[in-house]
Amino acid sequence: MKLATFRQGREVRLGIVWDDKIIDFNAALRLLRKKSSRPETSSPLADMKSFLTLGARGVQTARKVETWVKKQAEGKSRAALRGLIFDLSKVKILPPLSNPPKIMCLARNYVSHIREVIGDESLPTDLLIFMKPTTAIIGPGDPITVPPECRELDHEIELAVVIGQKGRFIPLEKAMDHVAGYTILNDISDREYVGKNDPGRRVNWFFMKAPDAFAPLGPYLVLKDEIKDPHGIRLRLWVNGELRQDSLGEEMIFKIPEIIARTSQFITLEPGDILSTGTPTGTSFSTQQYLKAGDVIECEIEGIGRLRNIVKVEKPMYRKQ
Ligand code: MG
Repeated sequence: MKLATFRQGREVRLGIVWDDKIIDFNAALRLLRKKSSRPETSSPLADMKSFLTLGARGVQTARKVETWVKKQAEGKSRAALRGLIFDLSKVKILPPLSNPPKIMCLARNYVSHIREVIGDESLPTDLLIFMKPTTAIIGPGDPITVPPECRELDHEIELAVVIGQKGRFIPLEKAMDHVAGYTILNDISDREYVGKNDPGRRVNWFFMKAPDAFAPLGPYLVLKDEIKDPHGIRLRLWVNGELRQDSLGEEMIFKIPEIIARTSQFITLEPGDILSTGTPTGTSFSTQQYLKAGDVIECEIEGIGRLRNIVKVEKPMYRKQ
């Protein structure tokens, strides 16, 4: 099942993607309960995070809603579904999550990317993680607005794991129980701050990774049962139609269970948390073809969809002296 956050008119809604249509989750659930004469037992879900907090119960309800709507659509009750189903092309798809408790990103988790950035063969022995603020999140179609002084803007397609179940000290064998699903995160980076110009070769993570719009996310949150082998998926990224990144998730040094088990030794994982699993080779850092205003970036992961954004340069407000 693919879930989305979308705007129809002025309202932000939680949706279930059904081919080229989207079902309004709350509206459909309300109608389903009315038809089955069941009293309204709970208030509508405010957003994706509220949905994820419900855990397995939320997923079960979503499946029930999806099955019921599809059945109604096949039968004579199609008219009753007016206002519950929309054409995907006619609504604005927003990031699946705009308020995750945490966005944790792995650096250097693909062998090929380590070679292009660090230039040596030594592999990390532990996770290297940085965090992005929620203000970095933008949705499909939103512009990647960058500070005017940014000269070395880069892209990184990544498989983002979305946490569904709270946990601390999660054992390796239970780690996947805490996953709700997956989405795409484009880990936008300003390579000027990667440390190549710093005498101590220090990475300045804040400037490199945290600015507004540096985390395009989406288009959908795909529940984990749809992606049987998240390490076997293919990740591809195009800039202006030219294929720049094309790799398989199997290249990951630290696999998803290990990332969850290790991070939860230090921090409580909560529903809605995002763990982005790193990027493969093909970034602008290796080609020196940095992104510029007007560039169209498209990220695609098998089974999830395609995330498209355009680079836009902000007006200068303040310049570093
Ligand atoms: Mg990255």
